[in-house]
Amino acid sequence: MVDFGFDTLQIHAGARPDPATGARQTPIHQTTAYVFRDADHAAALFNLQEVGYIYSRLTNPTVAVLQERVATLEGGVGAVCCSSGHAAQIMALFPLMRPGDNVVVSTRLYGGSITQFSQTIRRFGWSASFVDFDDTDAIRAAVDENTKAIFCESISNPGGYLTDLPAVAAVAESVGLPLIVDNTLATPYLCRPIEMGATLVVHSLTKYMTGNGTVTGGAVVDSGTFNWSASDKFPSLSAPEPAYHGLKFHETFGNLAFTFHGIAVGLRDLGMTMNPQAAHYTLMGVETLSLRMQRHVENAEKVAAWLEADPRVEYVTYAGLPSSPYAARKVAIYPKGAGALFTFAVKGGFDACVKLVDNVEIFSHVANLGDTRSLIIHSASTTHRQLTPEQQEAAGAGPSVVRLSIGIEDANDLIRDLDQALAAATA
Ligand SMILES: *Cc1c(COP(=O)(O)O)cnc(C)c1O
Repeated sequence: MVDFGFDTLQIHAGARPDPATGARQTPIHQTTAYVFRDADHAAALFNLQEVGYIYSRLTNPTVAVLQERVATLEGGVGAVCCSSGHAAQIMALFPLMRPGDNVVVSTRLYGGSITQFSQTIRRFGWSASFVDFDDTDAIRAAVDENTKAIFCESISNPGGYLTDLPAVAAVAESVGLPLIVDNTLATPYLCRPIEMGATLVVHSLTKYMTGNGTVTGGAVVDSGTFNWSASDKFPSLSAPEPAYHGLKFHETFGNLAFTFHGIAVGLRDLGMTMNPQAAHYTLMGVETLSLRMQRHVENAEKVAAWLEADPRVEYVTYAGLPSSPYAARKVAIYPKGAGALFTFAVKGGFDACVKLVDNVEIFSHVANLGDTRSLIIHSASTTHRQLTPEQQEAAGAGPSVVRLSIGIEDANDLIRDLDQALAAATA
């Protein structure tokens, strides 16, 4: 196999001209079901003896192209796309966890993930232990006999933090557990967690991968490297599956066991399916991923440096700044850049922040990130409003802090916009 470069793979991986029509762009297969050749063909598909299309809750040709493309860009053996990033997190844990099991997770996570892990997964009888992932001894200490996975983000929300993935992967390996990495903020262009030892990679495709704020989507990518049968910890993958006449996924499908389970059991029974229109929009976005990420990073570096030098600004938490405590880690592990999401503190506190978000013109005040458009949010008066001031500070979302998601517009226009909004906010 030729070793194609990232820019080639982001356009071609998983896709070929449509054999029926010659259509060069991937068609949107807007269909629910697929005609069986005959009764034997149908039986073979339902028995998982033959791979093919049955029903679009499980598989769809447009979604399949995206799955192969994301798996290829991440360096995995397979991927399952689903309806959102949050769906992907449940789909990643579902084959691993039983009631009473737990997952050890980083304290530095997307706010919605903190809620999902601290509250909602309890309804399934699962739980999460939150640990500072800069302290590898603490990760190890949090693992008990019911721990089934270790979970963190590569570049983490709300910005300014980079995980030492090789160090965390070494802990996961030493305790025999899969490491799941949410690579949403980095994308495979800035970071390939599987090369650093991750077992599974999850994505919110809603963000940079699609890149234009049009759809919600998610993906779970499997490295294919974890031995699910090495212990009796993962019976969904290693033991007979009653819903498939006692078939053992790991024994039957080898390094594709997790991906097949995700489709044949996960999507079949949880139904968190991506629709073909969403896959189309995301495929369009992924074609230009490297170009957009280069510009996102370049702009973030310029805007962060300008803000850091401005007397109206208290501090800037961007790991791409030479002054960041994570500057050395950036060079070693994230050499192409620290992403394009960060926070900064405005002198003048809560009131100045509220005035700032009300006075920006190019930046949009929204609860999203990873758009071509630059976005701004004052977390303390919105997403983190229900928390106490202490909890807000701990989450990096104190009252005087504003979060920016830097887009791919002209950096000078973004700086001019922040300049005039800061003037109005601190007048
Ligand atoms: C947005 C986001 C999610 C959740 O994804 P949705 O597509 O909104 O469900 C998870 N992790 C990170 C880092 C995110 O930014």
